[in-house]
Amino acid sequence: MTETIRKLPSDQDASGRTLGREEIDCVARAIESGVLTSTKGAFTKKLEQEFAKLLGVRHAFACSSGTAAIHCAVAAIDPEPGDEIITTPITDMGALAPILYQGAIPVFADVDPRTYNVTRETIEARLSARTRAIIVTHLFGNPCEMDEIMALAAERQLPVIEDCAQSYLATHHGRQVGTFGAAGCFSLQQGKHITTGEGGLVVSNDAAVARRLFLFINKAWGYGDKQPDHYFLALNYRMSELQGAVAAAQLGKLAGVVATRVRLAERMTRRLQGVPGIECPAVLPGNGHTYWKYCLRVDGARVPGGSPALGAALKEFGIASAPRYIQKPAFECQVFRDQVTFGKSRFPFTLARQEAVDYDRKRFPGSYEALERVLVLPWNERYTEEDVDHLADSIARAVGRL
Ligand SMILES: *Cc1c(COP(=O)(O)O)cnc(C)c1O
Repeated sequence: MTETIRKLPSDQDASGRTLGREEIDCVARAIESGVLTSTKGAFTKKLEQEFAKLLGVRHAFACSSGTAAIHCAVAAIDPEPGDEIITTPITDMGALAPILYQGAIPVFADVDPRTYNVTRETIEARLSARTRAIIVTHLFGNPCEMDEIMALAAERQLPVIEDCAQSYLATHHGRQVGTFGAAGCFSLQQGKHITTGEGGLVVSNDAAVARRLFLFINKAWGYGDKQPDHYFLALNYRMSELQGAVAAAQLGKLAGVVATRVRLAERMTRRLQGVPGIECPAVLPGNGHTYWKYCLRVDGARVPGGSPALGAALKEFGIASAPRYIQKPAFECQVFRDQVTFGKSRFPFTLARQEAVDYDRKRFPGSYEALERVLVLPWNERYTEEDVDHLADSIARAVGRL
């Protein structure tokens, strides 16, 4: 049976991005000014001020990527080599590599198979005397249970880093993600809610953390100090003024992007009610999900072949999806499996407790179930209601066929 193929807007090109006149004007002004470094230009400074204002935080810094933002946050915590940082195995490698670069050991907590997020309980199970910090990822735009996680962190006096690369403006009991922990990290990569191609932002309410974030972005050079020096080991993670110009314009569109994504996602959830074997995103009470992606949880007992079969069936309707999201938990990647780091040293894994690097499948039932069941659908603020209805109808028909 052939289906009518409906071309949907994509975040990989102009059809699904909000880039336009405003960005072009800002970039033109940046170029005409001749100032392309953010240390001297006006756009990146404005971006930082506006982003801090939008989140209601004291400090915001632009940087070169979401990965850089996480790296700055980890460096701001300044772990000792071999210290453990508890995090999730269902995330982007850009949230994990910085831990290793700072000589610390990522210790993976399991996730709730319904939300795909770490929880207080799964984090608690991995605490040790070596735990130095917690990194939570608000996956797909759905916030973690921050009240509970922050309570645990306070009991143990552990800083929390929030990875908000997928969760701009998402809220937990009315408070924005990125503002709970010691630092919040955002990405401006091509496929995120707003973009400069590559880019990042990192925020904090803590003056000491903010100082280290600023320094780590700037080779730890003490700009503006009486006797500046390179105070510690750090990189150049600055955003350029060209990206800053685009980001400043994109930021003005963020609230609209989020509102549209949420409205369309709620429509999708209504349209999918009653489709057998399909669960819509689990948004816990008090949470505001901002839908970087729209994920289905597919019950293999009721949809023969489960998520991969549904993904294949949707392809016949011309609908792209990602069964299993990142395919495997991060610890199954070669860098962790074979501990491939600096030369042949295996550092910092050489400092790890045996249990911290025990990736036995039995320890991660929620993570394996999450990846087995999830079907990730691209989501976009440029979809029309007709696009959403087409998606929902196609899913219902594809399920019917299986
Ligand atoms: C995209 C992403 C990152 C990395 O951001 P980059 O800008 O690509 O370096 C980190 N964590 C999560 C959860 C992401 O989605």
